[in-house]
Parts: sequence; structure tokens; C-alpha cells
Amino acid sequence: MKPPFKPDRISESVQNISIKLLMSLEVEGIILDVDNTLLPRTSNNIDPKVVDWVKEIKKRFKVIIISNNSRKKIERVAIPLELPYISWAVKPFRIYYRMAEKKLKLKPKSICMIGDQLFTDIKGAKKSGMKAIWVKPISPEKDLFWTKSKRKREAYWISKWNYNLFL
Ligand SMILES: [Mg+2]
Repeated sequence: MKPPFKPDRISESVQNISIKLLMSLEVEGIILDVDNTLLPRTSNNIDPKVVDWVKEIKKRFKVIIISNNSRKKIERVAIPLELPYISWAVKPFRIYYRMAEKKLKLKPKSICMIGDQLFTDIKGAKKSGMKAIWVKPISPEKDLFWTKSKRKREAYWISKWNYNLFL
């Protein structure tokens, strides 16, 4: 089995990712995934801990959301968090990461993608020359079926890498 693109770090949740860690990756910009990274795919309620975390990272980094979901679905998060976004993206296609680079006005090596899917979020970021942090999906049981089908493969690689990448 060919190994997938490896994230730079693995985290239990976004709020476990410290400013210090992000700074150690030498990035100035952050790209955030939405579903199962910031909140469950089928929910509109963002955990207050996640809201606080976003507020903190916004003070130090340029932040943008990229999601394969619709504008309406992204706005449930982007509006309360006051974040710019790219909707209807098709991750891992690089064109959407290029769009984010342009909007952030940063080189790919100065950007870190944070997302819950190895084969979309992380793959696209690494192919684009960005840093990447994989976070445990908030509620994988609510994943779409094509995502579910990839979770087994994902779990295999995550457990293999765990020992040195876990925060
Ligand atoms: Mg996601």
C-alpha cells in the first residue's frame, strides 16, 4: 500500500494546537477546513472552545476557510467567526489552495492547512508545498458515505504515524 501524504503533526482537536506549535512550523497563514474540523458536519453549533481558539489564532495569523461544502453551509461558521472563505472547493485539487495563497498573499511554505481528512485536506496541502496538521474528526459517524469508506485507510496510517507526530 503506497503511503499517503504525511501531515506535519496530528492533533486531538483544533483547540489542542497551540500558537507556539504553529509558530514553530514557521507559518504566517492558516487554512481551516470546516466540517468535522471546526464542528460536526450536521451541526450549526460551534464549541465555544473552538470559537476562542479561532479568536486567538486570528491575532497572530492570517486565516481563511476552504471547504468543499456550499456557501450557505460555510457561512454558518465563517460569519460568526468573521473569516474569509472559499466554498465549493474540490480538495485535494491544487487550484483551491492556489486561490487561498492569493487571498492570504503568502507563499505555500508559509501556510498551514488544518483539516480532518488525509486524502483531501492534507493531500492537497502537501502537494501544494504547505504545512499540514491532521485533526481527529469531531463526529466521523456523521460522515458522508464516500468519506466513511476512506476512514479505515486513514486510521491505519494515522496509527502508524502516531508515535512521532502526535501533539
Ligand atoms: Mg472535513
